[in-house]
Amino acid sequence: MKHIFKCANCGRYTMKEICDCGNKALPAKPMKYSVDDKFASYRRKAKAEEYAKRGLI
Ligand SMILES: [Zn+2]
Repeated sequence: MKHIFKCANCGRYTMKEICDCGNKALPAKPMKYSVDDKFASYRRKAKAEEYAKRGLI
C-alpha cells in the first residue's frame, strides 16, 4: 500500500514526502476507515441473520 501525503501548505495530495511546492507533506490519514469498518460489521451481521434464516447455523 502506498502512502499518501497531504501538503499542509497548498493542500495538495502527493505520493512524495516533499510536495511540489517545496513544503514537507504529512501522511494523510484515511478518514473513511471507521465508516468502512461499521459497514463491514453490519454486513457480517446481516449475513449471519441470512444464514440463520436458511437454517445453516
Ligand atoms: Zn504543497
